[in-house]
Order: sequence, then C-alpha cells, then structure tokens
Amino acid sequence: MMNDICIVGAGLWGSSAARHASVPGRKVCLIGLSEPHEKDRPSRDIFASHYDAARSVRKYEGSDHFRSLMTMRAFKGLQELEATTGIQLNAPTGHIFYGKDIESIVVPIVKEKGDLLTAEGVRERYPFLDTSRYGDTAMLFPVDGGLANPRMIVHAQQKAAALQGCDIIDDVVDSVEELGDHTHGEPVMRVLTKKGRRLLAKKVLLCTGAFTQLKDLLPPSTKLDFVIDGTFTVRLEVGEGDLKKLCNMPTLTSFTDFEHNCYILPPIKYPDGKYYVKLGPGYQDQRRLTTLKEVKAWFLSKPDPKLVEKYRDLLLSIIKGFNPVSVKTDMCVCSRTPTTLPYCDMVSPRLGLAIGGNGFGAMLSDEVGRMAAEMIAGGENWNRDIPREMLKAQFVTPPSNL
Ligand SMILES: Cc1cc2nc3c(=O)[nH]c(=O)nc-3n(C[C@H](O)[C@H](O)[C@H](O)COP(=O)(O)OP(=O)(O)OC[C@H]3O[C@@H](n4cnc5c(N)ncnc54)[C@H](O)[C@@H]3O)c2cc1C
Repeated sequence: MMNDICIVGAGLWGSSAARHASVPGRKVCLIGLSEPHEKDRPSRDIFASHYDAARSVRKYEGSDHFRSLMTMRAFKGLQELEATTGIQLNAPTGHIFYGKDIESIVVPIVKEKGDLLTAEGVRERYPFLDTSRYGDTAMLFPVDGGLANPRMIVHAQQKAAALQGCDIIDDVVDSVEELGDHTHGEPVMRVLTKKGRRLLAKKVLLCTGAFTQLKDLLPPSTKLDFVIDGTFTVRLEVGEGDLKKLCNMPTLTSFTDFEHNCYILPPIKYPDGKYYVKLGPGYQDQRRLTTLKEVKAWFLSKPDPKLVEKYRDLLLSIIKGFNPVSVKTDMCVCSRTPTTLPYCDMVSPRLGLAIGGNGFGAMLSDEVGRMAAEMIAGGENWNRDIPREMLKAQFVTPPSNL
C-alpha cells in the first residue's frame, strides 16, 4: 500500500513529526526501533540519543536567537501535548545559566525574561549551590523551564500520532531509494527494512539523528556536513538527606572556561527507583565517531574513569555538602551541524530530513517535528520567521540532483 509520507526514525523528532503530519486523509507511517532491553543491547547497531530519564527543557534556550524562537514554540507544543494526552512531561524546576559575563551571552529576546544575578545571588536563593569558582554572573529563569523525560515525550508523541491514524512500525530501515519508473507514472520512494518489509511512499522524511549517514538512507555518494560526537553522562546517587536539601534545585548550564563547561540536572528518579543528580560535558571531552561500528562500540563502552572523576569533582565543587551514595555513567551520542542549528530541508523533491540536535534536540523537538512535518507535506510557511537558509542542509558531497 502506498503511504503519503513515511517518517524514518521514531525518536524525539520523528515522533513529533509523525504527530504533526498525521492529519485526516493523509496516510502516514513512522518507522523506527523501540529502546532495547539491557540484554539486547549487544545485538543492536542502531541506538538513539533519547534513552534517558531526563533532559533539560526550557522555553528560552538562550544562546542563539533562532534556536530560542524554536524552543519558545516547542515548549508551548509540549504543553499542548501534555493536555491532549494527559501525560505529564515537564517538571518546572527553573533554569540557571552561570559563568563568565552571562549577560553578553544570552540573546536579547531571552535576556528580558531572566533575572541577572551574581554568584552570591545564586547562593542566596539556593544555599547549596556555589557557582563562584566558574564566574561571577548568572541568569535565573524561575519558571518556564526544567526537566522533561525524553522517553515520555516520545511515548506521548507516538500515542497522539497513533490516535490520529499514524501507522507505527518497529523496525530498522536499511535503505531508502527513489524508483523512477513506478507504474503509477510518478516516481516513488521505496523503504527496505531489516525485518524484510518493503514500504512505498510518495515522500520520505529522515529523522534518524546521529545515524542518518550510517545506513543507505541518502542518495548514493551524498555526504552531509554532519558529525557524531560520542559523549557520556555522570550520575551521582542522592541519599535521603540530600534529596530533601536539593528538592528545589534548578537545571543549570555553564558558560565558563572551555574545560569546565557542563550542564547539570537536579535529582531525577531513574528506573532503578533511585534518585540521581546528572551532569555532562559541554563540547569538550567527547570523541568523534565516524562509522556504525564505532558508534555501536561507543554505546556499549564506559567513559574514561579519569573523566568520570573530573565531572564528579566538578559537580561536588558546585553542590556544597553533597555526599553521593554511588556514581553511575551512561553513554550517548550528540549529532552536530556546522551551523549549530538543525538541518530541516529537502534533499530531493521526495526526500526530506530533520536532523542535528547539537545537544538541544529535546527542547527543540516538538517544533522541529512540526516544521519537518509541514515541510515534507509541501506546506508553504513551515519555517515561519526562521529563514530557510539557516536550516538548510550543508553537504561535503551534495546529491547529484542539486
Ligand atoms: C547525554 C546527552 C544529554 C542531552 N541532554 C539534553 C538536554 O538536556 N536538553 C536537550 O534539549 N537535549 C539534550 N540532548 C540532545 C537530545 O537528546 C538529542 O538532540 C535528541 O535526542 C535528538 O532527537 P532526534 O530525534 O534527532 O534523535 P534521536 O532521539 O536519537 O532519535 C533518532 C531515532 O532514529 C532511529 N533511527 C536511526 N536510524 C534508523 C534507521 N536506519 N532505521 C530506523 N530507525 C532509525 C533511532 O533508533 C532513534 O530512535 C542530550 C543528548 C545527549 C547525548
């Protein structure tokens, strides 16, 4: 059967695109893998960047004008999704940027929403937080930001998409190809899967995150300017006493010396029933990965113990008097574009993509999914006031039809 739109990649962006694309009279399918159980991980080669219990999600991203416009819309979109599905997605803890000269880093549309503080001012509001070692400025966003569970966002988006008629298929796509000589006269896209499915669609949208160039999804010889960085998180278990003390802790992001940049999340309940404070590096201490084999090996590995110690110490230098019960780590990958903005673009008249979270993909997810859904459906004003040029895919080797 012919699909109008086939969306490949059932992660944060693909699931959002599926919800926004599924309108009456349009046949849409979403194809991607559900999260593997621990025991199945070694036999997987495709993973995802959203396998976690929390992401920092805020209305005002802050460091880029266009990204902030997108997060403002995405935040509203998540609130609407919460209302439609009845699934709670946000925990409004508030957010703090801290570090050096924060006022000059935060973009004007966001600045007016935050409270400019000194490190001492942070300490007055949150006596257990001391950011002074990393700079004397901070900006607090007491509302409109906090934590969201990425697994629950994916679940809610897919629930809403399915209710709107979207067909959701649990499989890996091995190849996407345009067939020029289809019997109906028009060229058609053919999607072949690992489990042997053969799907036909008028258009295909790739929302395959870091894995986009690791299967045959793009036209032959095409190479995007798009990289994968292996990264990790360090989680410190919070005991009962500390849990009470940290109960009003916000999410934090730093702009300080390169080697100390990080994001920090307040206590989060993980599937093992325990609470952890989590942090991860900014752009530093990551490993560039290029092949499927390297990415798989990264997901199945552990971070360098010296780096785990570095980030544990960094966290303990900020959260005063915290006595972690244990230390855990998780591996992940971050996809990066040279623009630091998502690529939301058509690669050919029948193939589009929405990829490149650059570490902001959860807070952007609902809006990028909406833009991509309207773009692939042929909508005119999908990008609203964000110039398409800013979202255009850049290539090392462009597809031959460009
Ligand atoms: C450690 C870490 C912390 C982060 N923290 C934050 C944060 O606090 N706030 C924030 O906003 N963002 C954060 N991010 C970024 C955010 O999680 C990602 O940008 C986001 O997951 C990107 O969404 P996506 O849909 O593009 O990719 P993904 O969520 O990875 O989804 C892509 C999906 O496509 C599937 N797929 C790929 N190839 C195929 C194929 N061939 N066939 C079928 N399916 C396929 C994958 O299995 C996956 O399900 C963090 C990322 C990491 C790694």
